[in-house]
Amino acid sequence: MPRQFFVGGNFKMNPISRGQKESIISVLNSADLDSTTEIVIAPPSLYLIPLKDTVRSELQVSAQNCYFKDSGAFTGEISPAQLVDAGIPYVILGHSERRTLFHETSEFVAQKTKAALNATLKVILCVGETLPERETGQTAVVVQKQLQAVVDVLQESDWGGVVIAYEPVWAIGTGKVATSAQAQEAHLDIRTFLSQAVSPAVAENTRIIYGGSVTAANCKELSTQPDVDGFLVGGASLKPEFVNIINARRN
Ligand code: PEP
Repeated sequence: MPRQFFVGGNFKMNPISRGQKESIISVLNSADLDSTTEIVIAPPSLYLIPLKDTVRSELQVSAQNCYFKDSGAFTGEISPAQLVDAGIPYVILGHSERRTLFHETSEFVAQKTKAALNATLKVILCVGETLPERETGQTAVVVQKQLQAVVDVLQESDWGGVVIAYEPVWAIGTGKVATSAQAQEAHLDIRTFLSQAVSPAVAENTRIIYGGSVTAANCKELSTQPDVDGFLVGGASLKPEFVNIINARRN
């Protein structure tokens, strides 16, 4: 079975007002969207339930983070069980902003990934290297280390709930997109790693999406790469051009 093209919109800590949120959603609700693309939008947590209730049925909603416990004295956190109870199907974990600004280690990301999957959430698992790591030829090693922590705690059957987002840190929010050759090379390395570390079937079936300064102008070429199964989009997901990115595989 071919892997279904996947486009996620990571709104991060945007928009700043409910009015702006409504105008983003009205663009998506009225657009002509490719019905073969799986589309997921990840708003700030206070908008998860209102958006789930107001977006068209083809759009799924994702949290941007969660903790690994079900409940308890963890001020400021949201649990996988709470997200499932609220009808939220996806969560983004391991985003580079969380790894860097909030000091999340790969082991912590792995622990949260396992907890989210156990609770029946699906996980958009982000990995990626910094510019110095790329410039010193460490991209594959860094990404494999991030993934190995997750491989260590998941069962083979868990991988059906995982979408891997390869997001080079130097490309996130910088306007410097990876070339399609750079993206394809990194995605193929990830698929080869999954084949050896988990199984050939998991490698073949797992969607590996690219994130980092994806725009309407560069998405088409990236989408033609055989191991690029979609995108995780930050800044451009707040703009009408997000529709063009969702429709990247249309002629
Ligand atoms: C992201 O935050 O996941 C991202 C890819 O951001 P941007 O598209 O703005 O680079």
